[in-house]
Amino acid sequence: MAELKLYDTFTRTKQTVRTPEPGKPITLYVCGPTVYGRAHIGNARPAVVFDTLYRLLRHLHGAENVRYARNITDIDDKIMAKAVAENRSPQAVAAEFEQAYFADMAALGCLTPDFSPRATEHIAGDHGMIAMIAALIARGFAYERQGHVLFEVSRFEGYGRLSRRPMDEMIAGARVEVAPYKRSPGDFVLWKPSTEDQPGWESPWGRGRPGWHIECSAMIRSVLGQETIDIHGGGLDLQFPHHENERAQSCCAHGGAELARIWMHNGFLTMGETKMSKSLGNIITPRELLDAGWPGEVLRLALLSAHYRQPLQWTDALLERSKAQLDGFYSRRRRLLHIGNPPVRDEIVGALSDDLNVPSAIAEMHQYGRDSDRCHADGNVEAAAVFARRLVATGSILGLLEQRSEDWFTAGADAAGVEAELARYREARAAKDWAAADAIRDALKGDGIEISVAKDGTTSWRRA
Ligand code: AMP
Ligand code: ZN
Repeated sequence: MAELKLYDTFTRTKQTVRTPEPGKPITLYVCGPTVYGRAHIGNARPAVVFDTLYRLLRHLHGAENVRYARNITDIDDKIMAKAVAENRSPQAVAAEFEQAYFADMAALGCLTPDFSPRATEHIAGDHGMIAMIAALIARGFAYERQGHVLFEVSRFEGYGRLSRRPMDEMIAGARVEVAPYKRSPGDFVLWKPSTEDQPGWESPWGRGRPGWHIECSAMIRSVLGQETIDIHGGGLDLQFPHHENERAQSCCAHGGAELARIWMHNGFLTMGETKMSKSLGNIITPRELLDAGWPGEVLRLALLSAHYRQPLQWTDALLERSKAQLDGFYSRRRRLLHIGNPPVRDEIVGALSDDLNVPSAIAEMHQYGRDSDRCHADGNVEAAAVFARRLVATGSILGLLEQRSEDWFTAGADAAGVEAELARYREARAAKDWAAADAIRDALKGDGIEISVAKDGTTSWRRA
């Protein structure tokens, strides 16, 4: 079996993912959403990319040998601001958008991660944020000032190595708030005080709440149970400062152990040339697209259409093209009915093993489709089915083609209504009332439904 190589941001080279051993599963952590609004389709890109990696790892090693965690940031100033603006509790805001996030990602075919830790549930406890911050202070990497605890970046010699930024640039680039409690402008917050009306937790530094970066460091240690995990992922914009800071905290709290063997970053989804982002106001949400009638699977294929490290331009044409591709794949999936479950050879993971080359795997699916058509045209039904099977097997690693073709072609239509019309159509034909039969067929066609009659007289229908 081909070994899996992934591009690692830290070394800027492709690194081999180790083979899991009994009791030592492959561990994957992805930074999840801050739940103060609906995810946009750009936010969905890392979810879908890393879900695909998760599926590939499970395919290669078995589900029991893979552990995937994606957190929920449910304490944050943006959540608190929204709560104040809408006169409700931060918990209510976070709960609403956490649920929406799970629903949206499920609609895009994302499996539920093994762990979905909430930041607020990992503040106290043995490997919680407070314990980690205390360890950083004890080891001389952090200091307390005016109820704040700060990480002192100059104390960590490796600071900047992940994002490869010189220290002065990082300091200039850090959003420097006026902060009299900082020894140096690049120092970042581990803990900050809360006022009476803000959510807060008791700590050795008074009542307060954690900074964003420490959340991930603590949740990784808590839920994955390791100081060094196999793969850490997120969008390109998280390289600095978020991942740089996660790495600094974890290394320093854990005696120098690296936080991750491989760091992965997905490229941006763009509108035109511009990154899709809430602050720019150029967002489209999966919810809007689903409500407009696009199947979640179309959104998923569209999100997978570019290599994960490349930018991806979001357009209507991309959606149309993805829909047409799925129609083609699903029409071949029907041919599976002719065979049982022949084994699928390793070759289907070849492209994916090379830094998750999904576009190349999709190109192979098209080739399997053409091969299947050729065999079908030659009357070789068995061989046509074997190629269709490879097409579907590759698709299933990508989280695609998992419905029955019937369901794909009829989704969104009023199935019961169509079936009733189809029954009338069959009666009309049985009575040789061709005019009536044609009228029913044309009416359905007007509703976007195509019906067909097989040689043996059975009828079926699909969305046109
Ligand atoms: P945020 O809620 O901004 O922290 O984003 C959640 C995740 O979505 C992070 O992994 C971001 O890097 C990622 N992300 C945000 N905007 C985009 C975008 N336009 N394209 C791809 N990934 C994005
Ligand atoms: Zn994180």
